[in-house]
Amino acid sequence: MADWLFGEQCFVISAVMPTYARADVVFERGEGAYLFDSAGRRYLDFASGVAVTALGHAHPRLIAALTAQAHKVWHTSNLFRVAGQEQVAARLIGETFAETVFFCNSGAEAWECGLKVIRRHFHEGDQPGRYRVITAGGGFHGRTLAAISAARQEKLVKGFGPLLDGFDQVPFGDVDAVRAAITAETAAICVEPVQGEGGIHLPPAGYLRALRALADEFGLLLFFDEIQTGIGRTGPLFAYQREGVAPDVMCVAKGLGGGFPVGACLATERAAAAMTAGSHGSTFGGNPLAMAVAGAVLDVVLEPGFLARAAATGEVFGARLESLVGRHPTVFAEARGVGLMRGLKCRPANTAVIAALRQEGLLTAGAADNVVRLLPPLVIGETGIDEAMVILGRVAETLAGGEAAS
Ligand SMILES: *Cc1c(COP(=O)(O)O)cnc(C)c1O
Repeated sequence: MADWLFGEQCFVISAVMPTYARADVVFERGEGAYLFDSAGRRYLDFASGVAVTALGHAHPRLIAALTAQAHKVWHTSNLFRVAGQEQVAARLIGETFAETVFFCNSGAEAWECGLKVIRRHFHEGDQPGRYRVITAGGGFHGRTLAAISAARQEKLVKGFGPLLDGFDQVPFGDVDAVRAAITAETAAICVEPVQGEGGIHLPPAGYLRALRALADEFGLLLFFDEIQTGIGRTGPLFAYQREGVAPDVMCVAKGLGGGFPVGACLATERAAAAMTAGSHGSTFGGNPLAMAVAGAVLDVVLEPGFLARAAATGEVFGARLESLVGRHPTVFAEARGVGLMRGLKCRPANTAVIAALRQEGLLTAGAADNVVRLLPPLVIGETGIDEAMVILGRVAETLAGGEAAS
């Protein structure tokens, strides 16, 4: 970290708080699935800003929506009705189990709104002693104190205690462990339908359905974190729709704004009945700019055939990754995932694989469990997949060669 001067003072800490181990590259512009750095070098973007730029970069429909709104009004606060919120909420309700939506600016906030909906539901339902939420090991819900308390991974919580009380963690995919963890204080079960940050983990078939049945049996709310899986990442608009198992509460963010910060907490009327005026809020949440872009994202992804095409491309990608792993077993241990949410479990450190791929012009994202995440924009076609496979194959050869030589 270079020292820097401000007036007379010299600082060792970087001007941007060093909470990320950032790659030394600055992007100047993007176009579809490509990013261009300050030296003009082109990269194929299979990180998508961590599953955010669902329609790629500089999508003409998103630019049009954002600039049109920018000329009208940016921000009015939630002291007034916001037409865009009413439109996007109606759209989300029409496509999901939900009957009401709260808008915010990020994933963690959307998740935390879900937690507040749950606590308030039982408090106002004369069961204030029911506040605990069962969560899954390896889960991720964001970086607020409540969200790290729920995920309770060492690297997230170290040094940030005391944590928020009220979470009971069980292994992901284990229905019996959920049943065993239910007590008279349990209010809800919260999982990601497919774990993202945890390393692209798909639960066993029937898991979500079994959680729904347990929630119904014990009068609990079912809370899905679809911040990463939502907006077509796994095939349908939301991952829960793959199994046809609806939650009571769901949080969404990442892909919803296609790169503009926006989050949403969706709920049934019954779950959210206690969320009355003054119970929750956000100054920026659902502002006209965010709503204009989110509306345009939904317009595009809900066009007939769009999600089916992305899902089909995802299946092709999955098959190609399986074959890559078969050809390079010393570099890759496993291909995982569904739709356009894919992961490669590496044998060398995933950070080394990610750096090597970036050198060759392919951007990816890391995940726990030594996984490289491949999250192309939903607009990627088979030629984009072909291009990525060439780079993946070349890097695998090099890494395998390097191992054989050493
Ligand atoms: C990214 C993510 C979050 C946190 O979202 P932020 O916008 O970073 O707060 C929460 N849950 C899941 C599943 C995520 O992938």
